[in-house]
Amino acid sequence: MQTTQHWINGAFTAPANSRLQDVTNPATGKVSSQVAMADAAVVNQAVAAARAAFPEWRDTSLARRTQVLFAYRELLNARKGELAAIITAEHGKVLADAMGEVARGLEVVELACGAPYLLKGGYSENASTKVDIHSVRQPLGPVAVISPFNFPAMVPMWFFSVAIAAGNTVILKPSEKDPGAANWLAELWKEAGLPDGVFNVVHGDKEAVDTILDHRDIKAVSFVGSTPIARYVYERGTASGKRVQALGGAKNHMVVLPDADLDLAADAAVNAGYGSAGERCMAISVLVAVGDTGDELVAKIAERTRTLRVGDGLRGTDMGPLVTRAHREKVAGYIDAGEAAGATVVVDGRQVEADAEGEGFFLGPTLFDHVTPEMSIYTDEIFGPVLSVVRADSYDEALALVNANPYGNGTAIFTNDGGAARRFENEVEVGMVGINVPIPVPMAYYSFGGWKNSLFGDTHAYGAEGFQFFTRGKAVTTRWLDPSHGGLNLGFPQNA
Ligand code: NAD
Repeated sequence: MQTTQHWINGAFTAPANSRLQDVTNPATGKVSSQVAMADAAVVNQAVAAARAAFPEWRDTSLARRTQVLFAYRELLNARKGELAAIITAEHGKVLADAMGEVARGLEVVELACGAPYLLKGGYSENASTKVDIHSVRQPLGPVAVISPFNFPAMVPMWFFSVAIAAGNTVILKPSEKDPGAANWLAELWKEAGLPDGVFNVVHGDKEAVDTILDHRDIKAVSFVGSTPIARYVYERGTASGKRVQALGGAKNHMVVLPDADLDLAADAAVNAGYGSAGERCMAISVLVAVGDTGDELVAKIAERTRTLRVGDGLRGTDMGPLVTRAHREKVAGYIDAGEAAGATVVVDGRQVEADAEGEGFFLGPTLFDHVTPEMSIYTDEIFGPVLSVVRADSYDEALALVNANPYGNGTAIFTNDGGAARRFENEVEVGMVGINVPIPVPMAYYSFGGWKNSLFGDTHAYGAEGFQFFTRGKAVTTRWLDPSHGGLNLGFPQNA
């Protein structure tokens, strides 16, 4: 059986007596490989490589750095199908969706090709007489990226592209559930000409993460995952003096106002609710039907939901399996709980006929109506193909529901009323808002991040904020001395 190894200093390393964990193809239920789990010694080795590579990489010219990034972009674009196939085989999402993931990650690599522009400082001539000030942004050093299972390529690319472009060196700790994409991306860096040690991958779990969080040579951590772990990573990482951005979970609401086109809203709800089997942090998991739209909307969503084909993502299906058997059982348990709590099961995904060989972790799309805020299907992030419809009498009631939620990642409003949409944009307490757009993931030149329990820290991912996170500012005050600058004066420097 193949073992997924760590990638340190430009080569795979296979420490003896490594702890190994199975990696499963969720569409067949069969173990496809094993992944080596890093202990502290492995993480220390990766950090040492990243530390050694840093001085040269930070001083590598912007021209040379962007040449490497352009080469990476070209290779990735030419071979993205290989990466998508790895994602489908380990994560389970359908191939077209895996291609979409790669495309959205590529966008950030393309943004990073423009790093020289984003790294430009400022200059003020004659700030004081014959005194000039300029500012520069400098890289931090070795930084770590800790990523979740649901975007094994895109989320690492959000961070490592910007970190490397800005002159840092990187240790990536991907999810142990689907580790293959990270190694593929690592080998491609070498092919693109990135010096050894600038990008490293360590596989593992809490043991590796804790070593990263406590390591004094790691200067910053970008984390994406569930809220409890995001909070933990933020607290432990900042306690050891690091800069941390930790993106957490979500419960994204889609509000449908009575004037909306209900056919388009139903299409959007199905796409955003069940795409990637609901395993997206920007998935819509709650639909708030305002006024008298509920019955018609639920009927339209149910009709569409019943047409979805579930099965192996390599067979042209609409929806693949859940990532693991345990996660499938957990999501099915939420459906049981929703039914027991009195919500109406409109479409039941528990008995599904999947187009696949073997015993994959399939669950059909499930639609609940008449969900109320105290039910666990409403309060918890389920992270599966379960869409809950909540009824609200008015816009104000819908808004209050969204704003009362502890998460604040994404939200959407469906309406043709510009005034209502504008009000929602202004009043909603959520980081990413869609107006008739159900999954408003910002383009690479904006930044991605939620509010409240969906993000710990204050800097969002990629875009200008990404460059801000991976650099620190320095202000330099310059005076070229001439005789007029002589004389003693012990007062605090003032402008003249
Ligand atoms: P997770 O929190 O279980 O794991 C994320 C990472 O943390 C993995 O690398 C994992 O190995 C590590 N980890 C897990 N348990 C740990 C522990 N006890 N101590 C230290 N490290 C630990 O998340 P997941 O199940 O891989 O991903 C799904 C979650 O990620 C969902 O909650 C989803 O909403 C969230 N997510 C958020 C965003 C966002 O942008 N806000 C994007 C994608 C996913």
